[in-house]
Amino acid sequence: VTTRAAAPALTPSQGVALVCRVLGGLGLTREPAGHVSVRLDGGRVAIKSRGEGEAGLRYTTESDIVTVDFDGNVVDGSGLRPPQELPIHLQILRARPDVMSVVHVHPTASVLATIAGIPIAPVVGAYDPYAIRLLAKGLPTFERSVLVNTPELGDELAAALGDASVCLMRGHGLTAVGATLEEAGLNAIKIDELIDLNLEGVMLGTARPISDDDLRVVVGDGTTRPALVASAWDYYVRQTSKGGDDE
Ligand SMILES: [Zn+2]
Repeated sequence: VTTRAAAPALTPSQGVALVCRVLGGLGLTREPAGHVSVRLDGGRVAIKSRGEGEAGLRYTTESDIVTVDFDGNVVDGSGLRPPQELPIHLQILRARPDVMSVVHVHPTASVLATIAGIPIAPVVGAYDPYAIRLLAKGLPTFERSVLVNTPELGDELAAALGDASVCLMRGHGLTAVGATLEEAGLNAIKIDELIDLNLEGVMLGTARPISDDDLRVVVGDGTTRPALVASAWDYYVRQTSKGGDDE
């Protein structure tokens, strides 16, 4: 048995592929819809590619990752092309120097919340403080429902996201960002779970927010210990890996 701390460091392409597999494995997106990117040195970005024979997110491997520059030119990854929605990634990475990774997926619950116009409330406390801290940073909605396939639309989305970590996209999906690949992936997972709880609460009759006093305590200074973030992410990696309990 190897110790968890001894896990080998992943290359950026391996890291992007892993986040794709986790999000796809959890059912946060269907088919090949959605993509994950990470900022590289030298003004380049590694991103899940699209095109003939492409893998669905949950089956992504390193060979599905393409490297582009900030003009969208492919600089590595022969035969692959970036997704049409590359501007989601490039324009957010331009606007947010603090962001290293961008995730775009189409989770059903998140789309349903935008269809029904359900406001997302802090309905839990100790059940999931990370999700509540994410919500406290804001959960804006991008009201356009078209493909974000131009720099102008990418800028509009980046403006809607603002300083938040997740932006819902009406009738489309969500875009999540993070200071690392794992954080961006976890942000997508956590907000989708919270949205799911809100929707189910509404369906059961009401989705009551916790008290303001408790909300302040749960949010605290807004940060979560890195060790807790790492173990949460590790949980989803193991759940969606071969030998996990997902299949
Ligand atoms: Zn999309």
